[in-house]
Amino acid sequence: MSRLGALLASLALGLLSGSAHADAPTARPDAPHASKKKKRNKVAAFSGNLANPGELRSEPPPKPSGTVVLTAVNFKERVEVHLYQEDGSFDPEALDTLNHLFRCRRTGTEKAIDPRLFEMLSRIYDRFGRPLELVSGFRNQERVTSFHFHGSASDIRIPGVSERALHKFVTSLDAGGMGIGLYPRAGFVHVDVRPEASYRWTDYSPPGRSDSFARGTFVGKKKRARRPASNS
Ligand SMILES: [Zn+2]
Repeated sequence: MSRLGALLASLALGLLSGSAHADAPTARPDAPHASKKKKRNKVAAFSGNLANPGELRSEPPPKPSGTVVLTAVNFKERVEVHLYQEDGSFDPEALDTLNHLFRCRRTGTEKAIDPRLFEMLSRIYDRFGRPLELVSGFRNQERVTSFHFHGSASDIRIPGVSERALHKFVTSLDAGGMGIGLYPRAGFVHVDVRPEASYRWTDYSPPGRSDSFARGTFVGKKKRARRPASNS
């Protein structure tokens, strides 16, 4: 192949991988064994469904300690806060600290995050006793259907804890009104609180790909229509 031919071919590949599914694994020129993986991944890059009501908790989850130890991987910032004041109400300073940590990576803007999400993070911290890592919090993005945009979602992981173990525990907290997504390849769990029915999904997008979608880089009409409104 001539140099021009090779250039055109790589351009075409780039266009293909960008336009098909921004968050689904497609053949990428830089991915080793891309052609082998392609077939398997096409089967179920994403699958989601409403949570079975029978799997939800019948009672609200226990009150958390209020302690949250969280590192924002995008900013390399770590905070340790206690959510509650002595009378049991939320400590505004702690909320401010977390809101700042949750700020949009792309635009730097902050949003008041739903404190119930922070309580979920505290329950997770109570359970595993290890600092949590925030992969993504508030996202000031075009895709306004995302709970990241509404300030009630986080993508998290815990070094030393598998995402499946984390996912299992988070699922056990849901008494209704949570969105929980497992990202086995990207290595994190999406957790949100929402005013609507609980939703579950698994997304096999490789690291960075689901995120590039979520940043609003690829908000195609086709993509929007295919993907449920309530994910990632
Ligand atoms: Zn997410």
